[in-house]
Amino acid sequence: MIKTRFAPSPTGLIHLGNVRTALFNALLAQAQQGVFLLRIEDTDQERSAEQYVWQLMEDLRWLGANWQEGPAQERDNAPYYQSQRGEIYARYYDQLSAQGQVYPCFCSQQELAVSRKLQRAAGQAPRYAGTCAHLSVEEIAQKRAKGLQPALRFRVPRGATIEFTDLVRGTQRYATDDIGDFIIRRADDTPAFFFCNAVDDALMGVTHVLRGEDHLTNTPRQLLILQALGLPKPHYGHISLIVGADNSPLSKRHGSRSLKELREEGWLPEGIVNYLARLGHTYGQDDFLTFAQLAAQFDLQRLGKASAKFDEQQLKHWQQQAVLQADPERLWQWMDAATHALVPPEAKTAFINTVHPNLVFPQDALLWATILCTENWAYTPEAAAEIHNAGAAFFAHALVALQDSQTDWQTMAHCLKISSGKKGKNLFMPLRAALTGMTHGPEMSQVLPLLGLETARARLQKAQAA
Ligand code: GLU
Repeated sequence: MIKTRFAPSPTGLIHLGNVRTALFNALLAQAQQGVFLLRIEDTDQERSAEQYVWQLMEDLRWLGANWQEGPAQERDNAPYYQSQRGEIYARYYDQLSAQGQVYPCFCSQQELAVSRKLQRAAGQAPRYAGTCAHLSVEEIAQKRAKGLQPALRFRVPRGATIEFTDLVRGTQRYATDDIGDFIIRRADDTPAFFFCNAVDDALMGVTHVLRGEDHLTNTPRQLLILQALGLPKPHYGHISLIVGADNSPLSKRHGSRSLKELREEGWLPEGIVNYLARLGHTYGQDDFLTFAQLAAQFDLQRLGKASAKFDEQQLKHWQQQAVLQADPERLWQWMDAATHALVPPEAKTAFINTVHPNLVFPQDALLWATILCTENWAYTPEAAAEIHNAGAAFFAHALVALQDSQTDWQTMAHCLKISSGKKGKNLFMPLRAALTGMTHGPEMSQVLPLLGLETARARLQKAQAA
């Protein structure tokens, strides 16, 4: 059985980029009836906050990316917070020490910076120069006696090649000579990312890791650690990062918002999921799909290597599709309190049905509630022009037609066509403009009965006098 995971560091609100990583892992697990695990990588105690953990759990649930193992879904592999796994890591540090595969490193940040600078100046790729790689037991004791706290470095074997098949990018090869000995425990005793991330994946039984391509070069290091510890290695797949129109990684500048912000703006989770699932993964069809359908068709073969460009228009397209799919009661809940206050209870169902195809965001509902249920609106310039062009005589005929039709739109249009001699756009546009103040909007056959005879008459009279 496959097991995928999302392993966020709770140092801020999650954005579309990390949401997509979570989503791909959730879809892959569901596609193969596997398990999707959530692990909280909170080793950076300074920057991590519990509030971000709650928030991201709420975000994942909201999207429908539910995890079967992790916080609030405790299984045998608990705890799922890295900050609570110190004892577990200690055992594996001990094992590596016993195997002679790690050594204490006393180099200060300044010393390391100088060394990197010299290497760069000599045209070499900067990597650890090995200063502490061969300290004697006495030297180590002396440094400790001075009160120096060492970091723990992993001894990378020389002259070897690490090869792995990336699920997205195919065969990857790295010469270990290009990888400097790296820190797996910091001088302050906190575990480094390379280490606990790899160890936890192995201990938690994770079989497939989909993550951002910014982690690709971490993978050979992580494979070395797992190899040294004799732990199982997951399959890694590095998905391309989401970029903005200028090809730089997606950021606030490109309109990227946190999921929390998007939710508060009225974006629906199904739209976001339909959009993100297609960003770097191709689906055979462009139809709106449910989470289960997206999962059923999720396929590692369909993950693309090309960077995925964020397109707000596409996101909006899927939002529109999601709104169209939503049932009336859900839409009502999604609308603002201000909209609820404007629509009389007896008109609720008719209102929702009438405006449904014209909604993309909750404020569209507020606009239509204002137009259809209040007199607190003005003609748009286009609507004013239509009314002006039609002239007062047209609206005099319209008032008669309204009376005869009793708000049945087909009848009214038919009567008015005969009496005014107008047809098509010249007939419908001035009526729409007079009755709604707009030149586009919901079906007039639904708008007219919703307005009712009195209101429609008053609005036609107003247009007549305009
Ligand atoms: N905590 C890491 C991050 O948020 C996880 C990386 C990974 O998925 O392996 O970048």
